[in-house]
Amino acid sequence: MDLTFSEAELAFRDELRSWLADHHPGEMPHGDEDEQYAFRRDWQRTLYDGGWAAVHWPSRYGGRDATLTQSAIYFEELGRARAPLAANVLGLLLAGPTIMAWGTEEQQDRYLTPILSAEEIWCQGFSEPEAGSDLASLKTKAVRDGDEWVVTGQKVWTSGAQHSKWCMLVARTDQDVPKHKGLSYFLMDMEQAEIQVRPLVQITGEAEFNELFIEEARIPHENLLGGEGNGWKVALTTLMNERAGLGFFLQVRMRNVLDDLVTAAVQNGRIDDPVVADRLGDLHLRTENLRLLAYRGLSTIERYGQPGPEGSLTKWLWSETNQLLAQTAADVVGADALVAGTPWAYELLRSRGNSIEGGTTEILKNIVAERVLRLPRAA
Ligand SMILES: Cc1cc2nc3c(=O)[nH]c(=O)nc-3n(C[C@H](O)[C@H](O)[C@H](O)COP(=O)(O)OP(=O)(O)OC[C@H]3O[C@@H](n4cnc5c(N)ncnc54)[C@H](O)[C@@H]3O)c2cc1C
Repeated sequence: MDLTFSEAELAFRDELRSWLADHHPGEMPHGDEDEQYAFRRDWQRTLYDGGWAAVHWPSRYGGRDATLTQSAIYFEELGRARAPLAANVLGLLLAGPTIMAWGTEEQQDRYLTPILSAEEIWCQGFSEPEAGSDLASLKTKAVRDGDEWVVTGQKVWTSGAQHSKWCMLVARTDQDVPKHKGLSYFLMDMEQAEIQVRPLVQITGEAEFNELFIEEARIPHENLLGGEGNGWKVALTTLMNERAGLGFFLQVRMRNVLDDLVTAAVQNGRIDDPVVADRLGDLHLRTENLRLLAYRGLSTIERYGQPGPEGSLTKWLWSETNQLLAQTAADVVGADALVAGTPWAYELLRSRGNSIEGGTTEILKNIVAERVLRLPRAA
């Protein structure tokens, strides 16, 4: 990837900058989860109306057919402007790219635009109580009944299910073949009485994710994505997009948090402590490193049309750095960073989940060892 911007790319950046200056909704409210969600949904609608909800998507679905360099500019400018997160993150980063890669034309026409406009929110129904890292051992089953599939089982950690119209559901459709081969991927309508969504309260006090209890829910056959028995391959597309997308998206936001921490350290004089300065310097280098890795990930997509396994490296380093950043903040800001309800205390508690969500650090290290470094499999 050429990191020098052309005239056209600079013009794209300036157009976005001036649009953001005119449409920025201000600071997100703190505290109330429902209020925050409504704020982010409104913001996504504003982005969509302006044609800025997802610039790399095809224009026929409301995107801008942007190049990868323009996409990089896009994420960096949103971060620079400290724009709030869109509401439909899993729809934009996971469901959309998976439907683009595996969906029929009818499925693409049906689902993609409502994802962009935040009209239909998506959640990811992969993990189960006995199947997280070892996703292929999941037990939720789907049985064909004429033109429908009947689904029964339990999912867990389903982020945003309480707001979602659709779920990316992976279920077992064949018990008699090796576990990876017996899975199928469905687009499941959450608005049915056979699905119960029960919130799980996290250490932050928020109930960001949920348990799903599914008792004979119905899915029309036309909502199968990528063909019967192909669920593992389709799920890998979702997971690779999750790791690559999160890497780019979140590292830009981490830079803002680091800048705030440096400002706090200058204001309270802690910057004069060489140990503190050293830790902040280390965080600066890690954040820059992540930015370059994110560009490298985009180059892979440019060359091969999809994210590569090195997205696992970005996600692992991002979670490690974000946790270090939150711990450093607690030391630099002092007791104020531990007061419940403050942004620093929130970061400290929420960052614990970073090394679990989207693949645990241990699993990502295995992927990097085997698929990037080509080391032999662990016994
Ligand atoms: C904030 C948050 C949001 C989430 N959102 C979603 C969501 O929206 N949808 C969804 O489907 N899931 C979601 N998850 C679930 C997440 O993907 C799983 O928690 C994760 O994949 C780990 O699975 P597990 O919890 O079953 O742990 P396990 O797989 O039981 O792992 C337990 C420990 O053992 C280690 N381990 C397991 N296998 C190996 C191995 N082969 N080698 C080395 N170490 C190993 C793991 O790394 C981990 O440390 C979310 C999780 C969090 C924390």
